[in-house]
Amino acid sequence: MEYVETVQGPVRADSLGKTLIHEHFFFGYPGFQGDLTLGGFDFEEKKQRGIEVAKLIQEQGVDTVVDPTPNECGRHVELLKAVSEATGLTIICATGYYYEGEGATPYFKFRQQLGTAEEEIYQLFMEEITNGIEGSGIKPGIIKLASSKGVITDYEQMFFRAAVKAQKETGIVLLTHTQEGTMGPEQAKMLIEEGADPKKMVIGHMCGTTDLTQHLHVLKQGAYLAMDRWGLQGIVGAPTDEERLTVLSALLSSGYEDQLFLSHDTVNVWWGRDPVMPEPLLELLQHWRPDHLFRHILPDLMERGIMTDTQMNQIFQSNAAQLFGRKSTPAEMEERLGAEEK
Ligand SMILES: [Zn+2]
Repeated sequence: MEYVETVQGPVRADSLGKTLIHEHFFFGYPGFQGDLTLGGFDFEEKKQRGIEVAKLIQEQGVDTVVDPTPNECGRHVELLKAVSEATGLTIICATGYYYEGEGATPYFKFRQQLGTAEEEIYQLFMEEITNGIEGSGIKPGIIKLASSKGVITDYEQMFFRAAVKAQKETGIVLLTHTQEGTMGPEQAKMLIEEGADPKKMVIGHMCGTTDLTQHLHVLKQGAYLAMDRWGLQGIVGAPTDEERLTVLSALLSSGYEDQLFLSHDTVNVWWGRDPVMPEPLLELLQHWRPDHLFRHILPDLMERGIMTDTQMNQIFQSNAAQLFGRKSTPAEMEERLGAEEK
C-alpha cells in the first residue's frame, strides 16, 4: 500500500476513509487579485469560514476531501493546512493550471512563445511534488488538468504532457476538468498514449453530459470517472440532478461502481468579493453544498434500490484507497495500450 500526500503530510492511502473527490474550500477566478481592495484577505476570517465548511462535511461522516483548486485560482495551501489541523479533516491539495477559457494563461503563453513553457511546467510539477509548494513543505497529492469545450488546446496539451512525465517519475494521481462534459474520452486517450496509468487518473465533470457513450468510452479505457457536480444546476450546459441520476443508474447497473467518484465541485469561499447570484440562479443552486449527496441524492438512490450499501462504500471509500494506493502492473499497461489501438 502506498502513501498519499495531504496538507498535513503523507498518510496511507487505505486510511483516507470516506472521500469527496472534488470540492473547493477557497476558489477565485483569476483576476480576483485585482479586486482585493473590496474583496479583502484576512487569514483568520477565511480560516474560520473554511472550518465551518469542514465541519459541515464531517457531519456527513466524510474523512477526506480532495481540493483540486488550480495554482492560479487562489490555491492557498497554508489555509487548507490550518483548516485541516483545526478540524481533523484530511485535505489533499493539487498542483496544476486551469483550462484556457477561465485560467490565467498569459504567463505560460508568453513562455510558450519562447519555447520553454512545457519544460518549465514539468519543473513546476516536479518541484512541488518532491519539495513542496511555495516553500511551505506542503506537497500536492494530485495534478489538476483541464481542457476546453470540444478541444484540448495547444496550451492545455502542454500541461497534459508535462503531467504524464511527472506521473511516470512520481506515480502522482492525475485529476481532470472537462468542459460541459466534452473531451473526456479524448483526455484519457491522450494521457494513456503519453504513458499515463489509467488506474491513477480521474476524468472529471463527466456529469456535464448525459451521453452515456461518452461515459462508457472513458470507463472502457480503465480510468476513473467522476460525476462530481451534483447540485450544480442552471449554469450553461449543465444537466439537472435528475438527468445525472439517469446516467448514474445506468452505470451502476452495468457494474462500474469500482471506477466511479461522486462529488459536488462546490466553491465554498470565494476569493474577491462574494458573488451576488440572481434569484432564479439561487433557486437552482440551493443544493450546491458539500453535504447534498448525503442528505438528498444517496438516500433517494437507496430507497429506489438503484444503489446498494456495498456500491456506496465502494464509491466513497474503496475507490479513493485504490486510486491513491494502486498502480497498473507493466502487463496491465501493455494491455491498455493494445486495447486503445483496436
Ligand atoms: Zn472544480
